[in-house]
Amino acid sequence: MMRKVNSLAVEGFKRVRYNVAEAKAKYRREDETVRLMVVTKTVPYETVNQVIDAGAELLGENRVQEYLEKKDFYKEAEVHFIGRLQTNKVKYIIDNVKCIHSVDSIRLAGEIDKLAAKKGIVINVLAEVNIGGEKSKGGVVPEMVEDLAYGISELENIRLCGLMTIPPPENSEVYFDKMQALFHTLGSKKIRNVSMDILSMGMSADYVEAIKHGANIVRVGSGIFGARK
Ligand SMILES: *Cc1c(COP(=O)(O)O)cnc(C)c1O
Repeated sequence: MMRKVNSLAVEGFKRVRYNVAEAKAKYRREDETVRLMVVTKTVPYETVNQVIDAGAELLGENRVQEYLEKKDFYKEAEVHFIGRLQTNKVKYIIDNVKCIHSVDSIRLAGEIDKLAAKKGIVINVLAEVNIGGEKSKGGVVPEMVEDLAYGISELENIRLCGLMTIPPPENSEVYFDKMQALFHTLGSKKIRNVSMDILSMGMSADYVEAIKHGANIVRVGSGIFGARK
């Protein structure tokens, strides 16, 4: 009997997981890890759960409202927030996400810190870098990342533990290389309360190249679930 499972999503997940493992084996040291984040935007929770059943452990959420509608139905998985975040929406996600990848201003960092302090928790965040300097994109320009890192280092309830980027679609490898250099430079500054552990970059079109340049979280949506409607 045919069951109504979205086998395409499960196959997509397994294929991408295989490709990630292969790229990791080819380009990286044995003691490094690269995590595959499943980006769920527009995907019904039932389909996400099938992918969790198939072994997915990390979900990436873009939209606060959509996440709130789906979160109670998700099976067990670690959730990170990766979308643009308005300061007045932080309160809706702070209890449920383990890391926020899209911090690009000291104002947003301050709001996260304030709410985390109220709850007596420490939130992990990444600084989003606009590595291509594109007007249309969020993120801080590379020249300002260090300032942001020093600013966040003063806040007690928020911990900067890496960088995230969405590079320009053309020549993304050039930008991944720049990100890797920035990641190392910032790490070598040994800023109080700041660590460079996570480099979040690479999406469906370019995750293999991102792995080649040091990514340790790749964020894949359409490559798993098919094109979004
Ligand atoms: C949608 C999205 C992704 C995944 O993009 P795909 O091209 O569908 O893999 C990754 N990161 C962010 C921030 C996104 O918004």
